[in-house]
Amino acid sequence: MTEIDYYEILEVSRTCSGAELKKSYRKLAMKYHPDRNPDDKEAEEKFKTLSEAYEVLKDADKRAIYDQYGKAGLEGQGMGGGFGGGQNMDDIMDMFNSMFGGGGGFGGGRQQRRDPSQKYNLDFEIELPLKFNEAVFGCEKKIDIKYKVACDDCDGTGAEGGKLETCDYCNGQGQVVMKQGFMSFAQACPKCHGEGQKVASACGACSSRGYHEEPDTVTIKIPAGVDTGNRLRAQGYGNESKNGRRGDLYLTFDVAQDEHFVRDGVNVYIEVPVFFTQAVLGDNITIPSLDGELELELKVGTKDKAQFAFRNEGVADVHGGGKGQLVAQIKIVYPKRLNDEQKELLRKLQESFGVESKPHTSKFESAFSNVKEWFKSRS
Ligand SMILES: [Zn+2]
Ligand SMILES: [Zn+2]
Repeated sequence: MTEIDYYEILEVSRTCSGAELKKSYRKLAMKYHPDRNPDDKEAEEKFKTLSEAYEVLKDADKRAIYDQYGKAGLEGQGMGGGFGGGQNMDDIMDMFNSMFGGGGGFGGGRQQRRDPSQKYNLDFEIELPLKFNEAVFGCEKKIDIKYKVACDDCDGTGAEGGKLETCDYCNGQGQVVMKQGFMSFAQACPKCHGEGQKVASACGACSSRGYHEEPDTVTIKIPAGVDTGNRLRAQGYGNESKNGRRGDLYLTFDVAQDEHFVRDGVNVYIEVPVFFTQAVLGDNITIPSLDGELELELKVGTKDKAQFAFRNEGVADVHGGGKGQLVAQIKIVYPKRLNDEQKELLRKLQESFGVESKPHTSKFESAFSNVKEWFKSRS
């Protein structure tokens, strides 16, 4: 078996960050997600391989071993066992859903409502890019989608004239009895997937897919405070079943970054450049907030990287728990060059501080003499 490089599979560089890794995995896993590619073995294999690669690279220890020794190294550690070959689809789906919504209360729910005589899932998922402010304040989005509608000619069965015939593998039972040693147990028929029936001849109108796609424009209200990876269920905007009922559309957000504000969940950070004289003298300055401006009081001698927190000026909690805080962090800026007059003024200022202007001298007085002592005793 040839070994495919995990980094290549995930389409990332070997030096990529955890965030880049997650982003790329999500994008690709979404593309090859079984819900989007029903009955596509190749997509399913690809989805599995992606999950296997991500499972290893997201873990710093496993990634280090993989970087040095490859896949063989992981097997040696007992880490490779079970995955790839043995890992079943349910485990992979659980990992995927626990990472990207599902069970988290927001959106949630697994897309597995499937009518056995229906050749496609009623729910489907799309990724929705949002601007920073759209996510922070909420918005209304018009989205063009394509949803599946059962093929009229075959009534969604994929069979010409809707004609199905009894599955010859299980004689229409939908299940077969397997024997293993002295045990025997029933299993869903591998040929008809438990339906007991199979397509007599393919429907020409839909190439046996059982559906055709219909364009639609939906308007969705996005609540304030959503973040990258959050999932929202838009009820009734999914695929249409043959009896006309529509499933749900799931939206997974990808929120863009802002030029000034850095968001971390419900909190936002902003860097505030302050000229060194302002920091020394103290000052009152105005800084931008998410919805206006804030007054920031700089005390005499404000330090570089000092943080000022403003409660309730952050992002709304999407679950409805109030707002986070805005944290302003000081960045002291020094002049790049000085003219003669400025040099003279600063020199005078320094002199006026006397001893205070040479803190290293007083601090290291004893260190200098100690060092001298150490070497005196050696010679
Ligand atoms: Zn058809
Ligand atoms: Zn069968």
